[in-house]
Amino acid sequence: MREQQLHLLFPHVCLLCRKLLLPGEEPCCNSCRADFDPFNTPAAAEELLRRTIAAHFGEQFLFERGWCRYQFHKKSPLQQVLHAMKYEGLFNLGRSFGRQLGEWISSGADTGNIECIVPVPLHPLKKIERSYNQSEKIAEGIAQSLQKPLRRELLIRKRYTVSQTGLSAEARKKNPEGAFQAAKDVAGRHVLLVDDVVTTGATMAAAASALREGGAQRISLAAVALAIKE
Ligand SMILES: [Zn+2]
Repeated sequence: MREQQLHLLFPHVCLLCRKLLLPGEEPCCNSCRADFDPFNTPAAAEELLRRTIAAHFGEQFLFERGWCRYQFHKKSPLQQVLHAMKYEGLFNLGRSFGRQLGEWISSGADTGNIECIVPVPLHPLKKIERSYNQSEKIAEGIAQSLQKPLRRELLIRKRYTVSQTGLSAEARKKNPEGAFQAAKDVAGRHVLLVDDVVTTGATMAAAASALREGGAQRISLAAVALAIKE
């Protein structure tokens, strides 16, 4: 009852359809959420992620495990929500996606003893522009859910890359190459690398390569969504 009264005093509306939200529904209502397109199983998501990332790695390197929760379509409700998360500062949403992803990860049989969670970093200049790193918020949620340490300092972005949006497929592939550098302490560890959306896989591949060069023993990947070619 008390919760209902509070809700009347502070009405929250769905980010997408603007209907009043029920307690626990933030940031969007269950019926809008039902329009997100989740993968049926972690294995199906991993299979597609492997195929996407494979295009960017030589044969000598494969990532350990990979997780994605949703299939990402252009102009979908999920895109609107992720966009709001990135540009409207809804960082609680990032954490909530992260916790959900963490549950999805631990629902599977084997996480391969992940030791730490590392978000794909934004260049410091971009962080000022946008004031926070959405991948870091997702990583926070995952770390909380898996009860593993968040180690954002293990990977830095040393070069400012232009936004991937609007670049040609070829330019997208080249853009993040060599942009990252891993800290010494990454050596010998199993790292879970986290991003919001995997589109071509170029960013993940560049970040993972830096971790590998830094001596990471195993690298697994997690993203809220994986872009589906349409
Ligand atoms: Zn709604």
